[in-house]
Amino acid sequence: MKIRSFIGKAVLSLAITGGFSAVSLAEDPVFGIAIHGGAGTIKRSNLAPEKEAEIRAVLKQARDAGYQILETGGSGLEAVIAAVEILENSPHFNAGKGAVYTHDGEHELDASIMRGDTLQAGAVAGVKRVEHPITLARLVMERSRHVLLSGKGAERFAVKQGINLVNNAMFDTEFRYQQLMRSKQASLSVNNLPTEFKVGTVGAVALDKDGNLFAATSTGGMTNKQYGRIGDSPIIGAGTYANNDSCAVSATGHGEYFIRYQVAADICARVRYKGESARSAGEAVIHDVLLPAGGTGGVIIIDNKGNVSMPFNTAGMYRASRTSTGEDQVLIYKKR
Ligand code: ASP
Repeated sequence: MKIRSFIGKAVLSLAITGGFSAVSLAEDPVFGIAIHGGAGTIKRSNLAPEKEAEIRAVLKQARDAGYQILETGGSGLEAVIAAVEILENSPHFNAGKGAVYTHDGEHELDASIMRGDTLQAGAVAGVKRVEHPITLARLVMERSRHVLLSGKGAERFAVKQGINLVNNAMFDTEFRYQQLMRSKQASLSVNNLPTEFKVGTVGAVALDKDGNLFAATSTGGMTNKQYGRIGDSPIIGAGTYANNDSCAVSATGHGEYFIRYQVAADICARVRYKGESARSAGEAVIHDVLLPAGGTGGVIIIDNKGNVSMPFNTAGMYRASRTSTGEDQVLIYKKR
């Protein structure tokens, strides 16, 4: 299938220069995007068909918004931001509107972004009043001397950049509130929380026509989190990583494990130093490293040739991908 589309896209060009003739095979640049909306206990039996249809529609919308930008020659940076902002707006995902509640009944949002050409990165943690944390992470990357800003300081920076702060209650949803109540009743802490309580972190990875990789992740963290807990999503190398020499990764899952195992950076390092394919590197880290350690979750990966893989070790992961080589899928449950 891939070989056929390669040949289909290949352009046979005949160049004649000063009596010397050469036949070269030039290919359109490959590009693509993958997105996720969280990994966890997502089973057919506990997802109502109407809700499933709505979730699939938002995943498709976010993916296609990013893809269109790439297709028209736009930057992968704009593509991942466009996709993540759509997911942040949707109450179905644990990012922006629909973010989980902290122990104190508020929302504290984390996000990060990285570009694979310059290795520049930006992140925010524990922000309460920023509608699109991913956009603020981008501004940290582009307009500050720092990589990671937190809490009130990050919000002061947002105001300086012309962002209007919003009321924390704008992220409220009844569904997440009930989750907080249930987790408090069962005295579930971040450490023994079933994965259904934290599913919904969002992210995007892209390869653009210029050959540059980007990764972006945004989350409300974990239900019932306390004491200003920060997860992996705003930690470069844990929840987000991009390097043009290997791949771009965005993660979702039990953040404490993703931080300790440096999941996103480890996948790219395996590709870079061991020469593994992005697919086998991702599967090794998710299934052979994280799972035995007790870490649940998944990642989306795109490598510098446009190959996408989306391994996870939970029942499901909201995910979608589309590439110029013909990949086109919107998935929730395990394949097979
Ligand atoms: N990784 C996120 C965190 O630990 C949660 C998730 O992806 O579900 O904050």
